Amino acid sequence: MSTPLGLYVHVPFCSAICHYCNFNRGLMDAALKAAYVDALCTHVRREADGAAVDTIYFGGGTPSLLEPAEVARVIGACREAFAVPADAEVTLEANPETVDEARLAALREAGITRLSFGVQSFDDAELRRLGRLHSAARAIEALREARRAGFDNVSLDLMMWLPGQTVAQWLTSVDALIAAGPDHASLYLLELYPNAPLQELMAREQWSQTPDDDAADMYEAAMDRLEAAGWRQYEISNVARPGRESRHNLKYWQDTGWLAFGCGAHGSRDDRRWRHVADTRAYIDRVAAGADPVAEARRLDRAARLAEALFMGLRLAEGVDLDSYRVRFGDDVWTRYGEALMPSIEAGLLVRESGRLRLTRRGMLLANEVMQVFV
Ligand code: SF4
Repeated sequence: MSTPLGLYVHVPFCSAICHYCNFNRGLMDAALKAAYVDALCTHVRREADGAAVDTIYFGGGTPSLLEPAEVARVIGACREAFAVPADAEVTLEANPETVDEARLAALREAGITRLSFGVQSFDDAELRRLGRLHSAARAIEALREARRAGFDNVSLDLMMWLPGQTVAQWLTSVDALIAAGPDHASLYLLELYPNAPLQELMAREQWSQTPDDDAADMYEAAMDRLEAAGWRQYEISNVARPGRESRHNLKYWQDTGWLAFGCGAHGSRDDRRWRHVADTRAYIDRVAAGADPVAEARRLDRAARLAEALFMGLRLAEGVDLDSYRVRFGDDVWTRYGEALMPSIEAGLLVRESGRLRLTRRGMLLANEVMQVFV
Protein backbone atom coordinates (compact mmCIF):
# COMPACT_ATOMS: atom_id res chain seq x y z
CA MET A 1 0.00 0.00 0.00
CA SER A 2 1.37 3.43 -0.86
CA THR A 3 2.01 6.10 1.78
CA PRO A 4 -1.00 8.38 2.36
CA LEU A 5 -0.85 11.73 0.60
CA GLY A 6 -0.82 15.21 2.14
CA LEU A 7 -3.00 18.09 0.99
CA TYR A 8 -1.53 21.59 0.84
CA VAL A 9 -4.06 24.46 0.80
CA HIS A 10 -2.70 27.92 0.05
CA VAL A 11 -4.35 31.01 1.56
CA PRO A 12 -2.87 34.15 -0.04
CA PHE A 13 -4.33 36.89 2.19
CA CYS A 14 -2.43 39.04 4.75
CA SER A 15 -3.40 42.03 6.92
CA ALA A 16 -0.18 43.83 5.96
CA ILE A 17 2.84 42.88 3.93
CA CYS A 18 5.99 42.19 5.97
CA HIS A 19 9.10 44.01 4.79
CA TYR A 20 11.00 40.83 3.90
CA CYS A 21 8.23 38.71 2.41
CA ASN A 22 8.67 36.95 -0.90
CA PHE A 23 5.71 34.56 -0.63
CA ASN A 24 2.67 34.42 -2.89
CA ARG A 25 0.33 36.74 -0.96
CA GLY A 26 -1.70 39.94 -1.18
CA LEU A 27 -3.70 42.21 1.07
CA MET A 28 -6.88 40.90 2.66
CA ASP A 29 -10.03 41.48 0.58
CA ALA A 30 -13.19 40.03 2.14
CA ALA A 31 -15.12 39.60 -1.13
CA LEU A 32 -12.16 37.99 -2.87
CA LYS A 33 -11.62 35.70 0.13
CA ALA A 34 -15.23 34.45 0.01
CA ALA A 35 -14.92 33.67 -3.72
CA TYR A 36 -11.56 32.03 -3.07
CA VAL A 37 -12.92 29.67 -0.42
CA ASP A 38 -15.68 28.65 -2.87
CA ALA A 39 -13.02 27.98 -5.51
CA LEU A 40 -10.93 25.91 -3.07
CA CYS A 41 -13.92 23.71 -2.16
CA THR A 42 -14.89 23.27 -5.84
CA HIS A 43 -11.33 22.40 -6.79
CA VAL A 44 -10.92 19.90 -3.94
CA ARG A 45 -14.17 18.14 -4.89
CA ARG A 46 -13.17 18.06 -8.53
CA GLU A 47 -9.94 16.22 -7.68
CA ALA A 48 -11.80 13.63 -5.59
CA ASP A 49 -10.40 10.17 -6.09
CA GLY A 50 -10.80 8.71 -2.64
CA ALA A 51 -7.03 8.48 -2.14
CA ALA A 52 -5.77 8.03 1.41
CA VAL A 53 -4.74 11.37 2.92
CA ASP A 54 -3.40 11.79 6.45
CA THR A 55 -2.29 15.43 6.57
CA ILE A 56 -3.85 18.73 5.53
CA TYR A 57 -1.80 21.93 5.74
CA PHE A 58 -3.19 25.47 5.42
CA GLY A 59 -0.21 27.66 4.47
CA GLY A 60 0.06 31.23 3.35
CA GLY A 61 -0.21 34.12 3.40
CA THR A 62 -2.08 34.20 6.68
CA PRO A 63 -4.55 31.29 6.82
CA SER A 64 -5.77 32.42 10.26
CA LEU A 65 -7.58 35.26 8.43
CA LEU A 66 -10.06 32.64 7.24
CA GLU A 67 -13.18 32.42 9.39
CA PRO A 68 -13.43 29.14 11.29
CA ALA A 69 -16.58 28.32 9.27
CA GLU A 70 -14.56 28.77 6.05
CA VAL A 71 -11.82 26.48 7.37
CA ALA A 72 -14.50 23.93 8.28
CA ARG A 73 -15.92 24.06 4.74
CA VAL A 74 -12.53 23.40 3.16
CA ILE A 75 -11.78 20.55 5.57
CA GLY A 76 -15.27 19.15 4.90
CA ALA A 77 -14.59 19.18 1.14
CA CYS A 78 -11.27 17.38 1.75
CA ARG A 79 -12.99 14.74 3.85
CA GLU A 80 -15.65 14.17 1.17
CA ALA A 81 -13.10 13.94 -1.63
CA PHE A 82 -10.44 11.81 0.04
CA ALA A 83 -10.13 9.11 2.69
CA VAL A 84 -9.02 11.19 5.70
CA PRO A 85 -8.78 9.32 9.04
CA ALA A 86 -10.04 10.89 12.26
CA ASP A 87 -6.48 11.28 13.56
CA ALA A 88 -5.17 13.16 10.50
CA GLU A 89 -2.80 16.04 11.22
CA VAL A 90 -4.52 19.27 10.13
CA THR A 91 -2.24 22.30 10.46
CA LEU A 92 -3.10 25.97 10.15
CA GLU A 93 -0.48 28.71 9.93
CA ALA A 94 -1.50 31.63 12.12
CA ASN A 95 -0.23 35.08 12.93
CA PRO A 96 -0.46 35.91 16.64
CA GLU A 97 -2.42 39.16 16.15
CA THR A 98 -5.20 37.45 14.17
CA VAL A 99 -6.43 35.13 16.92
CA ASP A 100 -7.90 35.08 20.40
CA GLU A 101 -8.96 32.17 22.57
CA ALA A 102 -12.52 32.02 21.20
CA ARG A 103 -11.31 32.04 17.59
CA LEU A 104 -8.73 29.34 18.33
CA ALA A 105 -11.38 27.20 20.01
CA ALA A 106 -13.59 27.64 16.94
CA LEU A 107 -10.70 26.64 14.66
CA ARG A 108 -10.20 23.51 16.73
CA GLU A 109 -13.90 22.79 16.48
CA ALA A 110 -13.56 23.27 12.69
CA GLY A 111 -11.04 20.41 12.58
CA ILE A 112 -7.62 22.05 13.01
CA THR A 113 -5.35 19.86 15.16
CA ARG A 114 -2.05 21.71 14.89
CA LEU A 115 -1.11 25.40 14.82
CA SER A 116 2.01 26.98 13.40
CA PHE A 117 2.50 30.54 14.64
CA GLY A 118 4.68 32.96 12.68
CA VAL A 119 6.49 34.62 15.58
CA GLN A 120 9.88 35.43 13.94
CA SER A 121 11.37 37.17 17.02
CA PHE A 122 10.71 37.79 20.72
CA ASP A 123 12.20 41.30 20.48
CA ASP A 124 9.72 44.11 19.73
CA ALA A 125 12.30 46.32 17.98
CA GLU A 126 13.21 43.44 15.66
CA LEU A 127 9.54 42.72 14.98
CA ARG A 128 8.97 46.35 13.98
CA ARG A 129 11.94 46.25 11.63
CA LEU A 130 10.41 43.25 9.91
CA GLY A 131 7.03 44.99 9.60
CA ARG A 132 5.28 42.41 11.79
CA LEU A 133 1.98 43.48 13.34
CA HIS A 134 2.35 41.65 16.68
CA SER A 135 4.53 42.12 19.76
CA ALA A 136 6.54 39.48 21.59
CA ALA A 137 4.01 39.53 24.45
CA ARG A 138 1.14 38.90 21.98
CA ALA A 139 2.96 35.87 20.58
CA ILE A 140 3.41 34.37 24.06
CA GLU A 141 -0.24 35.07 24.87
CA ALA A 142 -1.36 33.47 21.59
CA LEU A 143 0.46 30.27 22.54
CA ARG A 144 -1.23 30.31 25.98
CA GLU A 145 -4.62 30.84 24.32
CA ALA A 146 -3.93 27.92 22.00
CA ARG A 147 -3.24 25.69 25.01
CA ARG A 148 -6.44 26.85 26.71
CA ALA A 149 -8.33 26.16 23.49
CA GLY A 150 -7.08 22.57 23.69
CA PHE A 151 -4.21 22.48 21.16
CA ASP A 152 -1.47 20.05 22.20
CA ASN A 153 0.55 20.45 19.01
CA VAL A 154 1.81 23.97 18.38
CA SER A 155 4.80 25.13 16.39
CA LEU A 156 6.52 28.53 16.39
CA ASP A 157 8.65 30.03 13.60
CA LEU A 158 11.67 32.18 14.37
CA MET A 159 14.00 33.99 11.99
CA MET A 160 17.69 34.54 12.67
CA TRP A 161 20.31 36.84 11.18
CA LEU A 162 17.94 39.82 11.22
CA PRO A 163 19.22 43.30 10.40
CA GLY A 164 21.16 44.66 13.36
CA GLN A 165 20.73 41.42 15.35
CA THR A 166 23.71 40.18 17.39
CA VAL A 167 24.28 36.54 18.30
CA ALA A 168 23.34 37.36 21.92
CA GLN A 169 20.06 39.03 20.86
CA TRP A 170 19.19 36.02 18.72
CA LEU A 171 19.82 33.66 21.61
CA THR A 172 17.50 35.76 23.79
CA SER A 173 14.73 34.92 21.32
CA VAL A 174 15.70 31.25 21.38
CA ASP A 175 15.55 31.24 25.20
CA ALA A 176 12.14 32.95 25.06
CA LEU A 177 10.94 30.26 22.67
CA ILE A 178 12.11 27.51 25.01
CA ALA A 179 10.42 29.26 27.94
CA ALA A 180 7.17 29.67 25.96
CA GLY A 181 7.16 25.87 25.51
CA PRO A 182 5.75 25.01 22.09
CA ASP A 183 6.01 21.44 20.74
CA HIS A 184 7.84 22.22 17.52
CA ALA A 185 9.87 25.09 16.10
CA SER A 186 11.19 26.15 12.72
CA LEU A 187 14.29 28.34 12.65
CA TYR A 188 15.10 30.10 9.40
CA LEU A 189 17.89 32.37 8.25
CA LEU A 190 16.48 35.63 6.91
CA GLU A 191 16.91 35.65 3.16
CA LEU A 192 17.07 39.08 1.60
CA TYR A 193 15.66 38.85 -1.88
CA PRO A 194 16.40 41.61 -4.42
CA ASN A 195 14.08 44.63 -4.13
CA ALA A 196 12.62 43.59 -0.75
CA PRO A 197 11.41 46.76 1.02
CA LEU A 198 13.60 45.61 3.90
CA GLN A 199 16.69 46.22 1.73
CA GLU A 200 15.67 49.85 1.28
CA LEU A 201 14.92 50.27 4.99
CA MET A 202 18.26 48.74 5.90
CA ALA A 203 20.08 51.22 3.67
CA ARG A 204 18.11 54.16 5.06
CA GLU A 205 18.42 53.18 8.73
CA GLN A 206 21.96 51.83 8.35
CA TRP A 207 21.05 48.42 9.69
CA SER A 208 23.16 45.57 8.43
CA GLN A 209 23.40 41.83 8.90
CA THR A 210 26.37 40.66 10.94
CA PRO A 211 29.06 38.62 9.08
CA ASP A 212 28.37 35.11 7.77
CA ASP A 213 30.37 33.63 10.65
CA ASP A 214 27.82 35.07 13.05
CA ALA A 215 25.00 33.43 11.11
CA ALA A 216 26.80 30.10 11.56
CA ASP A 217 27.26 30.78 15.29
CA MET A 218 23.57 31.71 15.61
CA TYR A 219 22.50 28.47 14.02
CA GLU A 220 24.84 26.18 15.92
CA ALA A 221 24.29 27.83 19.31
CA ALA A 222 20.50 27.72 18.86
CA MET A 223 20.53 24.02 17.97
CA ASP A 224 22.80 23.25 20.96
CA ARG A 225 20.52 25.17 23.30
CA LEU A 226 17.37 23.51 22.00
CA GLU A 227 18.89 20.04 22.24
CA ALA A 228 20.03 20.73 25.79
CA ALA A 229 16.42 21.65 26.57
CA GLY A 230 15.13 18.28 25.30
CA TRP A 231 14.35 19.12 21.70
CA ARG A 232 15.55 17.11 18.74
CA GLN A 233 16.68 18.61 15.48
CA TYR A 234 15.16 16.41 12.78
CA GLU A 235 15.66 18.64 9.74
CA ILE A 236 18.00 21.48 8.76
CA SER A 237 15.58 24.14 10.02
CA ASN A 238 13.23 22.16 12.25
CA VAL A 239 13.27 20.91 15.83
CA ALA A 240 10.58 19.08 17.76
CA ARG A 241 9.80 17.44 21.02
CA PRO A 242 9.77 13.64 20.58
CA GLY A 243 6.81 12.58 18.43
CA ARG A 244 5.91 16.14 17.45
CA GLU A 245 7.68 16.29 14.08
CA SER A 246 5.51 17.82 11.35
CA ARG A 247 3.93 14.84 9.62
CA HIS A 248 2.96 17.02 6.68
CA ASN A 249 6.38 18.54 6.11
CA LEU A 250 7.96 15.08 6.35
CA LYS A 251 6.12 14.30 3.09
CA TYR A 252 8.19 16.98 1.37
CA TRP A 253 11.47 15.67 2.74
CA GLN A 254 10.62 12.00 2.32
CA ASP A 255 9.19 12.64 -1.14
CA THR A 256 5.96 10.74 -0.50
CA GLY A 257 3.54 12.97 -2.39
CA TRP A 258 1.03 15.72 -1.77
CA LEU A 259 -1.75 17.41 -3.70
CA ALA A 260 -1.99 21.17 -3.95
CA PHE A 261 -4.96 23.53 -3.82
CA GLY A 262 -5.00 27.29 -4.18
CA CYS A 263 -3.11 29.89 -6.17
CA GLY A 264 0.60 29.37 -6.67
CA ALA A 265 0.51 26.02 -4.82
CA HIS A 266 2.88 23.24 -5.89
CA GLY A 267 1.96 19.56 -5.94
CA SER A 268 3.92 16.33 -6.27
CA ARG A 269 2.55 12.85 -6.89
CA ASP A 270 4.62 9.95 -8.24
CA ASP A 271 6.59 11.35 -11.16
CA ARG A 272 4.36 14.42 -11.72
CA ARG A 273 5.17 17.93 -10.43
CA TRP A 274 2.88 20.90 -11.00
CA ARG A 275 2.24 24.47 -10.00
CA HIS A 276 -0.96 26.53 -10.10
CA VAL A 277 -1.42 30.01 -11.50
CA ALA A 278 -0.05 32.46 -8.93
CA ASP A 279 -2.72 35.14 -9.25
CA THR A 280 -5.64 34.78 -6.83
CA ARG A 281 -8.32 36.07 -9.22
CA ALA A 282 -6.99 33.95 -12.10
CA TYR A 283 -7.17 30.84 -9.89
CA ILE A 284 -10.78 31.60 -8.91
CA ASP A 285 -11.80 32.31 -12.51
CA ARG A 286 -10.20 29.16 -13.87
CA VAL A 287 -11.80 26.94 -11.25
CA ALA A 288 -15.20 28.63 -11.71
CA ALA A 289 -14.97 28.11 -15.49
CA GLY A 290 -14.26 24.42 -15.00
CA ALA A 291 -10.73 24.94 -16.36
CA ASP A 292 -7.51 23.52 -14.95
CA PRO A 293 -5.69 26.02 -12.68
CA VAL A 294 -2.34 24.35 -13.39
CA ALA A 295 0.14 26.81 -14.91
CA GLU A 296 2.99 24.38 -15.37
CA ALA A 297 3.40 20.61 -15.05
CA ARG A 298 6.16 18.18 -15.85
CA ARG A 299 7.06 14.52 -15.49
CA LEU A 300 10.37 13.55 -13.95
CA ASP A 301 12.35 10.61 -15.25
CA ARG A 302 13.87 8.16 -12.80
CA ALA A 303 17.23 9.96 -12.58
CA ALA A 304 15.56 13.31 -11.91
CA ARG A 305 13.36 11.73 -9.24
CA LEU A 306 16.38 10.25 -7.51
CA ALA A 307 18.20 13.61 -7.58
CA GLU A 308 15.15 15.41 -6.18
CA ALA A 309 14.58 12.79 -3.48
CA LEU A 310 18.21 13.07 -2.37
CA PHE A 311 18.06 16.86 -2.42
CA MET A 312 15.07 16.77 -0.07
CA GLY A 313 15.97 13.67 1.95
CA LEU A 314 19.39 14.92 2.93
CA ARG A 315 17.70 17.83 4.70
CA LEU A 316 16.66 15.32 7.36
CA ALA A 317 19.04 14.86 10.30
CA GLU A 318 18.83 11.08 9.87
CA GLY A 319 19.75 11.49 6.19
CA VAL A 320 18.80 8.86 3.62
CA ASP A 321 18.92 5.07 3.66
CA LEU A 322 20.94 4.06 0.61
CA ASP A 323 19.40 0.58 0.27
CA SER A 324 15.84 1.83 0.30
CA TYR A 325 16.72 4.44 -2.32
CA ARG A 326 18.22 1.72 -4.52
CA VAL A 327 15.02 -0.30 -4.27
CA ARG A 328 12.80 2.71 -4.85
CA PHE A 329 14.64 4.28 -7.76
CA GLY A 330 16.41 1.25 -9.26
CA ASP A 331 19.67 3.12 -9.14
CA ASP A 332 22.65 3.04 -6.78
CA VAL A 333 23.21 6.43 -5.14
CA TRP A 334 26.89 5.80 -4.55
CA THR A 335 27.61 4.62 -8.10
CA ARG A 336 25.88 7.66 -9.51
CA TYR A 337 27.02 10.36 -7.07
CA GLY A 338 29.87 8.91 -4.97
CA GLU A 339 32.66 10.63 -6.80
CA ALA A 340 30.93 14.00 -6.83
CA LEU A 341 30.12 13.70 -3.10
CA MET A 342 33.62 12.74 -1.97
CA PRO A 343 34.84 16.35 -1.51
CA SER A 344 31.91 17.00 0.87
CA ILE A 345 32.76 13.86 2.84
CA GLU A 346 36.44 14.82 3.03
CA ALA A 347 35.44 18.33 4.17
CA GLY A 348 33.40 16.87 7.03
CA LEU A 349 30.08 18.09 5.64
CA LEU A 350 28.64 14.70 4.81
CA VAL A 351 28.94 11.29 6.48
CA ARG A 352 28.41 7.84 4.98
CA GLU A 353 27.91 5.25 7.72
CA SER A 354 25.74 2.20 8.46
CA GLY A 355 24.22 2.32 4.97
CA ARG A 356 23.08 5.92 5.36
CA LEU A 357 24.21 9.24 3.99
CA ARG A 358 23.65 12.32 6.14
CA LEU A 359 24.81 15.89 6.55
CA THR A 360 26.82 16.88 9.62
CA ARG A 361 25.70 20.03 11.41
CA ARG A 362 28.34 22.01 9.55
CA GLY A 363 27.11 20.38 6.38
CA MET A 364 23.59 21.56 7.18
CA LEU A 365 24.87 25.12 7.27
CA LEU A 366 26.53 24.64 3.90
CA ALA A 367 23.79 22.42 2.47
CA ASN A 368 23.43 24.54 -0.66
CA GLU A 369 27.02 23.76 -1.58
CA VAL A 370 26.72 20.03 -0.90
CA MET A 371 23.40 19.78 -2.77
CA GLN A 372 24.79 21.43 -5.93
CA VAL A 373 25.62 17.87 -6.99
CA PHE A 374 21.90 17.11 -7.38
CA VAL A 375 20.85 20.32 -9.13
S1 SF4 B 1 2.37 37.37 7.18
FE1 SF4 B 1 3.72 35.89 6.14
S2 SF4 B 1 2.93 35.75 4.04
FE2 SF4 B 1 2.02 37.58 4.96
S3 SF4 B 1 3.36 39.25 4.36
FE3 SF4 B 1 4.10 38.56 6.34
S4 SF4 B 1 5.65 37.00 5.91
FE4 SF4 B 1 4.49 37.36 4.02
